[in-house]
Amino acid sequence: MKTIEQLLESKSIRVTAMRMLIYKFLAENRVAATLSDIENAFDKADRTTLYRTIKTFEEKAIVHKIDDGTGITKYALCEKDCNCEIETDLHLHFHCTNCNKTVCLTENKIPQIKVPDGFVSENVNLVVKGICDKCSGQ
Ligand SMILES: [Zn+2]
Ligand SMILES: [Zn+2]
Ligand SMILES: [Zn+2]
Repeated sequence: MKTIEQLLESKSIRVTAMRMLIYKFLAENRVAATLSDIENAFDKADRTTLYRTIKTFEEKAIVHKIDDGTGITKYALCEKDCNCEIETDLHLHFHCTNCNKTVCLTENKIPQIKVPDGFVSENVNLVVKGICDKCSGQ
């Protein structure tokens, strides 16, 4: 197991206390977080710093953005060795229509999608909608 420091360093991100805390917060959360979730968790922190940290994490493939169709962008940690490449790294997400939570389905990679000649895929977003384990009571 790599420590958070080692992990950030391996992605050439300078280690700061804030970055470590945000990483830890996302790692402990099974559910994808919105920016306001992160803001609420660190209500004493400077917002600009929070946004910048998430942006840096996103650029370095530490977190990925999730568009679950609710119109609010969510963020979740990437798996290790993720480069956020469509063909190899992207996975499906599950959105619970009852509690509005979204989780990564990392076992389910995005299948190969053939686009017509001349089309260039930049992002794929596949969301399964339904009821999560907590809401279904199972
Ligand atoms: Zn990723
Ligand atoms: Zn639910
Ligand atoms: Zn995900």
